Amino acid sequence: MATAKLFVDVIIPLAVPNALTYEVPSAFKDVIEIGKRVVVPLATTKLYSGIVAAIHQNKPQGYEVREVEDVLDAQPLVRQVQIDFWNWMSSYYMCTIGEVMNAALPSGFRLTSETRLVLHPDFSAENAQLSSDAFIVVSGLENRHFLTLQEISSLVGKKNIHKLITKLIEDQIIIAEEELKERYKPKIEIFVQLAPAYFNDETALGEVVNSLKSQKQIELILWYLRESNLFSAREKKKVKRAEMLRNDQFTAAVLNSVVKKGILELVEEQTNRLTEKTDEGKIVLQLSDLQQKKLQELNAVFEKQEVCVLHGVTGSGKTQMYIALIKQALEQGKQVLYLLPEIALTTQIIGRLSVYFGSELNVYHSRFTANEKAETWLNILNHSTKGQLILGARSALFLPYSNLGLIIVDEEHDSSFKQYDPAPRYHARDAAVWLGYKNKAKVVLGSATPSLESYFNAEQKRYGLVTLEDRYGASILPEIVPVKFAPATKEAFAKQLFTDELIAAISDTLKKKKQVILFQNRRGFSPYLICEDCGWTAECTQCDVSLTYHKHKHKMKCHYCSSEYNFPPACKECGSVKLSLKGFGTEKIEEELEIILPEAKIGRLDLDTAKGKNAHQRIIEQFEAGAFDVLVGTQMVTKGLDFDHVHLVGILNADSLLHFPDFRAGERSFQLMTQVAGRAGRQKEQGLVYIQTYKPKHDIIAMVIANDYLGMYNRNLQERLEFFYPPYARIIKISLRHKEKETVDVAGVIMHQILKPVFGKWLIGPEYPLVARLRGSYHKEFILKIDRNVNPNNAKQDLRNCIATFTSNPDFRKIRVVVDVDPQ
Ligand code: ADP
Ligand code: ZN
Ligand code: ZN
Repeated sequence: MATAKLFVDVIIPLAVPNALTYEVPSAFKDVIEIGKRVVVPLATTKLYSGIVAAIHQNKPQGYEVREVEDVLDAQPLVRQVQIDFWNWMSSYYMCTIGEVMNAALPSGFRLTSETRLVLHPDFSAENAQLSSDAFIVVSGLENRHFLTLQEISSLVGKKNIHKLITKLIEDQIIIAEEELKERYKPKIEIFVQLAPAYFNDETALGEVVNSLKSQKQIELILWYLRESNLFSAREKKKVKRAEMLRNDQFTAAVLNSVVKKGILELVEEQTNRLTEKTDEGKIVLQLSDLQQKKLQELNAVFEKQEVCVLHGVTGSGKTQMYIALIKQALEQGKQVLYLLPEIALTTQIIGRLSVYFGSELNVYHSRFTANEKAETWLNILNHSTKGQLILGARSALFLPYSNLGLIIVDEEHDSSFKQYDPAPRYHARDAAVWLGYKNKAKVVLGSATPSLESYFNAEQKRYGLVTLEDRYGASILPEIVPVKFAPATKEAFAKQLFTDELIAAISDTLKKKKQVILFQNRRGFSPYLICEDCGWTAECTQCDVSLTYHKHKHKMKCHYCSSEYNFPPACKECGSVKLSLKGFGTEKIEEELEIILPEAKIGRLDLDTAKGKNAHQRIIEQFEAGAFDVLVGTQMVTKGLDFDHVHLVGILNADSLLHFPDFRAGERSFQLMTQVAGRAGRQKEQGLVYIQTYKPKHDIIAMVIANDYLGMYNRNLQERLEFFYPPYARIIKISLRHKEKETVDVAGVIMHQILKPVFGKWLIGPEYPLVARLRGSYHKEFILKIDRNVNPNNAKQDLRNCIATFTSNPDFRKIRVVVDVDPQ
């Protein structure tokens, strides 16, 4: 019986616009399935592994269809819903489906031509039964450290070796080199601890330290004592050796000599992984009466609607509500996804969730190794009907769910949910809503300060809304006080950092043995270096950005491209040595405060101090344990943290938030200030928040003080309507990039000629963005506004056509066109 020919559309991990069609040879007709990996040829010699997105009988016209070379998987690796999700994402966010697949699939599932294969460390050739091809590969690897796919292919004398490789990997005979490094990275770590002889003998310790001649050795011991004491008041504990030698603060030689003298000793220890979990000590959840009532409201909403905004003031117990919802879903055998805007926030939440969910909790985000990710992936793919909870950052959206019942988007207002670079430039909150509808899963969008978009959707009854107005228990919202910087001359203006009121409040708080958080939205020491004679400012050579001085390293840094420069000895324009630093970053605040309040112990949390793998968590833990009284930090201190002893929060410069040139500035500064204020007084005693500003009467500040979310919402909504911005309009940003200014300028004009007739008054630009040059390339941008009430698909198709016209011009081949849908 002659059967019709069968074709498959295959997604290739490249930025080709669509899935490509191949013919399925009859040998594979029975095994081909959507979601399996197949090997297909592209161009003349290259073979790729891709994913089957569709199976059909429509022979493509106009070119010769090539055949699938092999089918790699016995079971599909992704399900139809995931492929639908990828398709939606590629179409909505205007990128290729290959780009979406690259973001979605853990790299462990992608063999590329660059993959280097090595012998598996557990493999022993002695008793192995190898096929002849396998034997060739193994002998090859016994002679060479690694082989690439291409080399194996020529050794074996076959073009298609993907299946052979997959089998060898499965049988643990070979392993990808990259994965080997990750997987066998030592879990043993070396710690430094005090020699037992000194455990309870501080006098002896004091004597031996005093007898040391090397200043560096003394410093090292003092550093150790400070660090190791942080977790508890008395007991002296261990510090990681790597931590001690970090940033070259101490050399291994200094440490070794202190160890030789028998003062400190080195111990090896198994480090416990974050994901380690037990079912011991699970505790029972007890909701307050109010929370119980609100939980019922939420459930009532979910009878009728898929998405609900949970607007609860800081400290109202939103996490507690999530836990209750998760329990319900798990009891029904559902999968639950808990999304957070940033990886750094996962640790605190892991702690809180694991006491309720123990081994049901899985964690997934981009910092996991390829192997760990692949493991979680398969674990979710093979999920039975037992409930599963997955906590993760935005990439967790892509896991192969089959039975999703609930998605929680925590801190849903946070712009970090948007992927900025590379494509797909998706918003995880919005993608979660799509995924929820598709899977018939319920979606909770939780925040103390919901985004205008989400709250608008709730107001329009597209989403449900549940509000928690009060903090949990005896805790009440903090008192917020605006403090006006003294009116001053221009010079003093620039010098003002702390008002007397704030300093008094800090020292008061310290006297009460309570803690302080100080928020400043700039890191480093000073954001400007200016020549007093000619006005020259130090700028990055690659970006149109002034350089920030970092005192600790005595370097100038570009915060956009991370380039580092030496501190200039003189002005580059006029040669004057009268250079002065202007403005304050967190580093300077820390230093100034040390001078004003020498008795205070100060810690700092920003990108510079939180660089190492666990540094962020360590600083938070130290602060929790009372190792320092004051925590100075950037945005990082505003987010979701729950500290018991923080009484006072200081916002050092509200004006820099309020005047940011962006249509979201009002909303953002309200959110930031409200969130950071929410860290104060989470226990019984009312907390205190000081906002330093030149404009204490500013609307937004007044609304923060009154905790008037609705006031902020209504006012900003009015503005958005007037100027036609989200939530009334959808925005698409089109950015042209090239290293020559003239080329970008001309390209802008031409692109304008193409876009204008199509989009008319809804097109704005071309304009230089705030930073016109970044990493050596000039940017020019267009903004496209689309009415919220019309389907954006037509506009997007028009835009695709316009871009195609533009890029078909040979003069503009080298111009990068970047499209950002719903930019943040
Ligand atoms: P939010 O996320 O709304 O800021 P949290 O969930 O962090 O609030 O709750 C604030 C504090 O109140 C936390 O320390 C939390 O443990 C406590 N809390 C809230 N609800 C309860 C409850 N039902 N039982 C015990 N503690 C609670
Ligand atoms: Zn000068
Ligand atoms: Zn730069």
